[in-house]
Amino acid sequence: MKSDPHSNGKNDLPSNGNNDPWLTLRLSHLPPPLQQRSQQKPIPQYPQPEAPSTQCQEDRHEEDAPQTSQKRKRKRKLHQPLRKNKKKKEKKVDPIEPPFPWATSTRATIHTMDHLLAHNITSITGTVKCKDCNEQYDIAFDLQEKFDEVERYVKANKARMHERASDFWMNPVLPTCERCGKKDALRPLINKKRNINWLFLLLAQIIGHCNLKYLKFFCKYTNNHKTAAKDRLIYLTYFGLCKQLKPHLSLFDC
Ligand SMILES: [Zn+2]
Repeated sequence: MKSDPHSNGKNDLPSNGNNDPWLTLRLSHLPPPLQQRSQQKPIPQYPQPEAPSTQCQEDRHEEDAPQTSQKRKRKRKLHQPLRKNKKKKEKKVDPIEPPFPWATSTRATIHTMDHLLAHNITSITGTVKCKDCNEQYDIAFDLQEKFDEVERYVKANKARMHERASDFWMNPVLPTCERCGKKDALRPLINKKRNINWLFLLLAQIIGHCNLKYLKFFCKYTNNHKTAAKDRLIYLTYFGLCKQLKPHLSLFDC
């Protein structure tokens, strides 16, 4: 209800008996609003409606906090690829010194089986280190015998692998140590990426022992997608090496 000072003044005028309209106005007009204010003051209780609203604001702040931090993280993530791209190294095309008689002067590339047999390369050696007795030495595999094992495994399992490495390839059992007899013990020694003994790893079927950077290196230099998951990279590395050895066999097509 709006207070009308004129209507109050008219009601009070006869009872006052005063003919001075200014005095009447002053007396009748000024007090009522003051009284109304003092009476109206306690009625509205503002803290009660405000309390839940502040709680909501707090809730919103709590919800907003992770959102803003997520936004910051997103911003950081947006910047990260740029940094990576800056570091990205170009594929080197200059010839290298072949690290083994069965390797070529191109990175991550081995000779064909025909070439190796024509050059009487039938035994493939590799340096290993026992994780139990720490002995470091070379072991040798018969090229044809061990490659036949790989080929038989691929024939039997390619269809069910769905272009991803099987558990057997993902978690390979390492060779047994010849010195201490410890099983699953001989780790292949890997120093430089370009000196990796890929054929040895293939024949031993221990490519799954390589960490991602070595697998990515192989896929980079054999024109495969190196950003795939590890099981895909291992699959590509096995098939890529088999294809290098026997380029005419469609069995090793990816
Ligand atoms: Zn040992």
